[in-house]
Amino acid sequence: MPRSAPSAAPPIESLAAGVRAGDRRTLAKAITLVESTRPDHEQTAQRLLEALLPHTGHAARVGVSGVPGVGKSTFIEAFGLHLIGLGKRVAVLAVDPSSAVSGGSILGDKTRMPRLAVAPEAFIRPSPSAGSFGGVTRRTREALLVCEAAGYDVVLVETVGVGQSEFAVASMVDFFLVLMLAGAGDELQGIKKGILELADALAINKADGENVDRASQAAAQYRSALNLFRHGAHAWQPPVLTVSALEQRGMDRVWAVIAEHRTALAASGELVRKRREQQRAWFWSMIEEGLRRAFLERADVARLLPEMEHAVADARLTPTAAARRLLQLVEDDGGRPASRRTRTG
Ligand code: GDP
Repeated sequence: MPRSAPSAAPPIESLAAGVRAGDRRTLAKAITLVESTRPDHEQTAQRLLEALLPHTGHAARVGVSGVPGVGKSTFIEAFGLHLIGLGKRVAVLAVDPSSAVSGGSILGDKTRMPRLAVAPEAFIRPSPSAGSFGGVTRRTREALLVCEAAGYDVVLVETVGVGQSEFAVASMVDFFLVLMLAGAGDELQGIKKGILELADALAINKADGENVDRASQAAAQYRSALNLFRHGAHAWQPPVLTVSALEQRGMDRVWAVIAEHRTALAASGELVRKRREQQRAWFWSMIEEGLRRAFLERADVARLLPEMEHAVADARLTPTAAARRLLQLVEDDGGRPASRRTRTG
């Protein structure tokens, strides 16, 4: 087949040009391509990303996390509008671990941010819903790059405060903000040590009305809790703020903290290290995703998998034994992907 056929090139080039020109429809199209699970789309998407990669890296990448009800969407709307007021363009993405199961996402939902959704300076995209958790993460990472290439100054990545999604989002952003609530005396109970280590700042939300004093008390408690942990970035001690997303108070302070963090990390060289780490995390998630896909695409795996899944669910087989039997199929084949164990009998 002639490889010089020019017909494949123009779409990518015009897509890339459209993205770079900041055209929102093209941006949405590009992200749809990046999110597609069709093999031919994936190839095109990778070529598009390669074309865009030199134009990425300029946005402030900010993760926003917190339990359902803490006020994430209210906060992102208030904060996004504040940033637009400062002359910035803002993209909102989401990683929703449940979206792969439910097929829909409550995160990054435009109806939850009605005013931001209609702002021409904002671009909101819900969590990709297709594929495994690793796939969802990968697609969000790539969507982030596309938004950067489109010239967005700030990319907010929303996630819920449960489990692996926080680690995934923390690994793709420069600054990880955790929203909290002032509880009824049990402030410290719900927080795992892991979250405190991930957080570059905590913001106690709903510090308004009768809640103001409780929010300040909670902030003091979180401050002392944070002092107990050595934070990942040595140049930075995570501050604890109080904000009201509903009344749009504290947004300037949050942005100031993000800017201070950036300056501190840039000065200490940690920003470069962090970006390198983001690249590495991405690389590994690509490998994991690729291995998983190659594994699931095998006919012998597809044949044996349902039986093994049932056996594990019915407790007739341990997960380890079942996984071994499936992985053995790969090893028996010359052991390309899973070649760590050689046959020693
Ligand atoms: P999410 O589930 O984390 O996205 O939370 P939402 O943004 O949907 O907010 C949950 C509820 O808390 C809604 O009823 C909001 O109006 C309310 N809420 C959010 N932020 C604030 C705040 O700063 N103050 C008060 N009083 N209520 C808030």
